[in-house]
Amino acid sequence: MTIACCNGIVARTLAEMSIYIKRRKVMKCVICHGEVIKVTDVKEEVVVGNDVVYIPIKVPVCKTCGERYYDRRTMQFLEEVEGKLNKTQVGLKEVGKVLVYEERGQ
Ligand SMILES: [Zn+2]
Repeated sequence: MTIACCNGIVARTLAEMSIYIKRRKVMKCVICHGEVIKVTDVKEEVVVGNDVVYIPIKVPVCKTCGERYYDRRTMQFLEEVEGKLNKTQVGLKEVGKVLVYEERGQ
């Protein structure tokens, strides 16, 4: 995935993108064309077996539609963590349960 900017500019990293933002080359969301895209702390959900693991990351998020923009480094990081989690539970802390609601009578 890449970070799309207006004028056909494509940022490859978060750092590159924040430079564009500072230079006021306005980024537009490719989904809704919203112009408010801010680097935000989010929790990326990864499913490992029966568990859901939240990985905290910082990514540009469209404030209008919520679309997240991942740069190459973030994608690599998530893939690395995912690979690690499939082998070991090291670095994980249980913070809650994932529950499924089942309608009665089904
Ligand atoms: Zn959007």
